[in-house]
Amino acid sequence: MNISLNELSSEFNNNIKIDYDLKKKNWFNIGGKTKIYYKADNLKELIKFLKKVENKEKIFVLGGGSNTLITDKTYNGVVIKLSNNFNNISLLSDDIIIAGSAVNDKSLAEFAMDNNLGGFEFLTCIPGTVGGGIKMNAGCFGREFKDILVSIQTINKSGQVTTIPAKDINFKYRDSRLSDDLIFLSASFKGYKKNSNLVKNEMRELKKKKKILNLQKLKLVEVLLKIL
Ligand SMILES: Cc1cc2nc3c(=O)[nH]c(=O)nc-3n(C[C@H](O)[C@H](O)[C@H](O)COP(=O)(O)OP(=O)(O)OC[C@H]3O[C@@H](n4cnc5c(N)ncnc54)[C@H](O)[C@@H]3O)c2cc1C
Repeated sequence: MNISLNELSSEFNNNIKIDYDLKKKNWFNIGGKTKIYYKADNLKELIKFLKKVENKEKIFVLGGGSNTLITDKTYNGVVIKLSNNFNNISLLSDDIIIAGSAVNDKSLAEFAMDNNLGGFEFLTCIPGTVGGGIKMNAGCFGREFKDILVSIQTINKSGQVTTIPAKDINFKYRDSRLSDDLIFLSASFKGYKKNSNLVKNEMRELKKKKKILNLQKLKLVEVLLKIL
């Protein structure tokens, strides 16, 4: 790293942690430390911070940590986590929702339900955030992020903000092919009018199906472990 840790700590005080343990920041409670952990309070601060980091390749953005395995070795770089200020959800129009990247997939599904919007039900089965969901093109039971995404607001690691329309993204199975240079800030999604009770019922059914699937996978692992 080509930045002085003291300089960073004094400028971003409480939001910077040095040699920070990432165990509690991922779904599996595993792994070691990162040299620098930065919790971005808002866009202005994030831009200021990014301008300080010279080695942009050593920046990793962490969402909910449900698709990230952290090694025991210290990560000699910066892990950025978006704070709760990136956690807002609102209706842009009758059928369009805008959500911050730190919003949980489940909260987005519930917000859509409360606003009588269908199309988001599958999100109830996916642990993680909007940011991680876009990056991974996460999906469940035949639906995935690409089916509801309208556009993403991003910032690159040099601090430039852009909007990317979904039609310009080359989504693949569980992959968005979006550059690692991009940090997603928020995204807009399109649903369709659907009675909230129907949305609720579908979400309940999907959760049941997912639970059964998870149990089956667990049994398979048990069997495999016995064979090995
Ligand atoms: C029990 C369990 C069940 C799961 N079920 C499913 C499933 O049904 N379907 C499915 O698709 N996946 C599933 N997953 C995998 C995982 O939940 C998804 O991939 C999820 O979308 C990851 O989101 P996250 O916020 O946790 O991402 P993280 O693990 O934090 O990050 C994943 C990737 O996204 C990037 N990223 C995160 N936020 C941003 C951001 N703001 N800007 C730029 N890049 C970002 C990270 O750098 C990383 O490359 C499951 C995982 C678990 C543990």
